[in-house]
Amino acid sequence: MDKKHRKEILDRLNKEKLIEFRQNLPIDEVLFPKLFDFLDTELEKNGCDHSPIITKSFLQKNSISNIIEVTEWLAENGGYCDCEILANVEDLFDYLNPPKIEIIPKQNISKQKINSLKTDFNFCIEKIPSPWNLIETTSADNKEYVFQIGKSNNCTVNLHNHFSSFQHDDELWIKRWINETELSYNLANLSVEHYEIGNYSAIIVKTKDWTPVKIWCTKKDNPQWFLKMNTELNRYKGDLKEFEKLLNSIV
Ligand SMILES: [Zn+2]
Repeated sequence: MDKKHRKEILDRLNKEKLIEFRQNLPIDEVLFPKLFDFLDTELEKNGCDHSPIITKSFLQKNSISNIIEVTEWLAENGGYCDCEILANVEDLFDYLNPPKIEIIPKQNISKQKINSLKTDFNFCIEKIPSPWNLIETTSADNKEYVFQIGKSNNCTVNLHNHFSSFQHDDELWIKRWINETELSYNLANLSVEHYEIGNYSAIIVKTKDWTPVKIWCTKKDNPQWFLKMNTELNRYKGDLKEFEKLLNSIV
């Protein structure tokens, strides 16, 4: 028998057990949580005198007629006195408050290397120049494209569309760099450089103190998409040369 089948049988048995348990309760099941709350409060005040006296007074207050049957049922389930009823019987009603299970949506994420790309937002590349690889990541509702140098991800270039503000506001680029890197100190040397590569405008944000270098780049006449490069201080100059090759391959 496989694991899944065994689990199904077990689940069914547990369900049947629970149905039987609920059918054989001596009083309405909604009264039990109230009984346990009552015991909780009363036992704290006076303690347990090793009898079910508090339970009986609760049942009387609630006009229960079959008190003997109820106390017998409680005893059968390990609750001979008030403190035992609270300690041993309360757990049997956990099913009334099932734990909230966080549902993590199962996402089928697949990655593949692709050799060309044409998107509906006018990004078109027919051949990926060496040393770049283009990786397409497909999830349930989205596709993402990342260029990377070789197999490492020390230098990656993400393709994004719908860029609303490719502005010349340096403050904004600095904020973006800080948001993305989550670095909050030694920011005195943060600099923004505006850079032109043929038909493209690029913004380079870096500091003298931190490794991350971020470069945003878009086509001057067609800002429907932009590329964002994540690289490192000691290599970004070399990466920029490779990036130029990549830009030249975009149609
Ligand atoms: Zn007791």
